Amino acid sequence: MAAVLVVSSPLVKIRGFLRSWLGFLGSQSPAWAPALAVQGPASLLDPMGEKSESNETPSFLDNVFWMAVPKSRRTIEVNRCRRRNPRNLIKIKRNIDLCPQCGSVKQKHVLCSRCYEKVKLETHAIRFEMRAQEGGPHRAPYTESVVLYEGEKPTEQDEGKRIIERNRKRPSWFTLD
Ligand code: ZN
Repeated sequence: MAAVLVVSSPLVKIRGFLRSWLGFLGSQSPAWAPALAVQGPASLLDPMGEKSESNETPSFLDNVFWMAVPKSRRTIEVNRCRRRNPRNLIKIKRNIDLCPQCGSVKQKHVLCSRCYEKVKLETHAIRFEMRAQEGGPHRAPYTESVVLYEGEKPTEQDEGKRIIERNRKRPSWFTLD
């Protein structure tokens, strides 16, 4: 969106300033040269003033937002110092431990994800059995539930409780206590 135009400024102040400045340098005032024209919002053009002399083309200076830009390029040393600053690097974890149950690597303060996955799968299976017994939502009885695995019999304590049966051996981590 650029075109080369011969422009002369309608802004008297800028033109006067440029002329005085160029005159101050000692050379005679040069003719207006071809310049880059940039498209911008029309609201930037002054609609009010200078209607007496403003059948001239508006200056490109009227339509440009001047932005702050870096004056010089940063060297590769400066860039690398910034990128490889210790606060930008990945921290080394020193709280790694072995799971006492399964021996896989885990963080010290969190549950072992492998053991957690086993418990989650078994819980999911137990919930599936419960749903099959209830036969629909919101039909859970107001009693405790007991999970019995293969080869287990309900004791006296389990009287009146709901019994969920699982047709597999009891997992070692799922103790009765
Ligand atoms: Zn584990």
